[in-house]
Amino acid sequence: MKSTLHRILVALIIIVFLPLASITFYEYLKLDDQEKLISDVYKSQLESMVSSLNSYSQDVANNWAQRFESSLKYEKDTNGVVLKRLMDENPSITAIFMAPLNGRSQKIHQSQNSSLNDDFFENLMQLQAKNLTQLVSYFKNNYRKFLTYAVDDKTSIIYFIAEDAGGDMFACFFEVENYPFLEDNLSSKMQSIAQEDFVITLMDSVTTEVLVSTEKQLDKSLDYDLEGALWLMPQVKIKISLKSETISDLVKGRVTEGLILFAMILLVLLVGIWFLYASIKREIQLTQIKSEFIANVSHEIRTPLALISMYIETLEMGRVTATDKVHEYYQIISKETQRLTGMVNKILNFSKMENGKRQFKFALYDLNSITQKVLETYDFHFVNKGFEHHFLPAENLPQNHCDQDAVADALINLIDNAVKYSPDKKYIEIRTGTEKNFTYVEVKDFGQGISKKHHKLVFDKFYRVTNENLANKVKGTGLGLAIVSEIVKGHKGKVTLTSKLNEGSTFRLYFPTDFKSS
Ligand code: ADP
Repeated sequence: MKSTLHRILVALIIIVFLPLASITFYEYLKLDDQEKLISDVYKSQLESMVSSLNSYSQDVANNWAQRFESSLKYEKDTNGVVLKRLMDENPSITAIFMAPLNGRSQKIHQSQNSSLNDDFFENLMQLQAKNLTQLVSYFKNNYRKFLTYAVDDKTSIIYFIAEDAGGDMFACFFEVENYPFLEDNLSSKMQSIAQEDFVITLMDSVTTEVLVSTEKQLDKSLDYDLEGALWLMPQVKIKISLKSETISDLVKGRVTEGLILFAMILLVLLVGIWFLYASIKREIQLTQIKSEFIANVSHEIRTPLALISMYIETLEMGRVTATDKVHEYYQIISKETQRLTGMVNKILNFSKMENGKRQFKFALYDLNSITQKVLETYDFHFVNKGFEHHFLPAENLPQNHCDQDAVADALINLIDNAVKYSPDKKYIEIRTGTEKNFTYVEVKDFGQGISKKHHKLVFDKFYRVTNENLANKVKGTGLGLAIVSEIVKGHKGKVTLTSKLNEGSTFRLYFPTDFKSS
């Protein structure tokens, strides 16, 4: 049977476990690719945030340039009223200068915060001559580009090309204070992009000073996921990160979750296979036990039947005439008939009990007298089999509400076993006693014994310990202890077994003294 079970286990592993475990392992390997994919998608999301901020700041500059140009073209804003308003509305602009290309610069407006003068712009125009030429060529192609010159780490000059109504081109310079510019124009846009999920910080790339951030209480040690430049002010860096965790933490978390899930699936799978295996094993064992039972019973019936028919035939032929021989033959026939009846009764008893048809007739009895009667009827067998027995009745044993015949049946089963499984030390001790609310009767032998692992199982129907004791040679049905167990259950009692292999066994039947049948 063991090899069949092994084969079933191997088949289950090959058919169910291995394919699923391989799929799981394959999925696990794929997690790395998925991690990279998630990471790429996330990076491109961050990049789109950076470009959205850049185009927004570009829009701001464009708006300024348009207002500047329209003041040049249409409003004859010689006193710079419109531009004064532009500066009032945008306090980050501290000065506006303009100069005809190749001409001298001309201050249009300047706040008290600004210390720049015409000479500065003259120099700047010379310094940036190449860039200005480039801006002009872009402008001629209908594209206004902005360039920025960092005066120091707090101030920048944003310059571009504009033309008046006559088509003359001018270089225009906006002196801007970095921090107010970013705060006034970009912080609300940053908030709307970041929402609750991201941290966006604008930082001076030289001083690493935080200029503007969506976080009021910014963690200085934050490890940002992406860094980009603000085109309009190249010295300003845009840094973005997820608010709660970095993307690598997030992906790692996902991978861990995935792994835990896979581990759980594998565990469930293993448990499932184990249950399947256990139930197949139980079925096979049951089938085997049943066929052994049939073989045992047939053998048990056939042996006495053969003996009976042999002795009856001999007697019928009238060959044996000696009276003592005839008497001996009749005794054998009677003994074998009793054995047969006993066994058939045992099976019938068991089947009655199984079907719940055995009715107990409860009355008040005392265990000492039931035991005494059983021993008296069994005495003949003890003598026959060379057994000595010793009965130790407890004094003042309280009476029990029980079925006398059923208790006697249970006791006979125990004594039968004690005799059957004690091949060498033919001595049996029977004792009664009380323990808490119970009276008990126990049968102790010094025979073969039962190892611990079989203690519970021997009370199962058909169960026999076939590998370690005499049960291989001694025939039986495997029903005796199951019947005992059913009888004590019917009395709300219990049966205990104390035994060690090769040291003998003690079976004790407990009956509650306060039990009353309904
Ligand atoms: P069986 O007809 O096989 O005796 P039982 O239900 O009476 O069936 O017992 C179940 C098994 O328990 C036996 O096959 C035997 O292996 C073991 N057993 C029962 N009583 C004893 C005992 N007194 N000593 C050793 N083994 C025992």
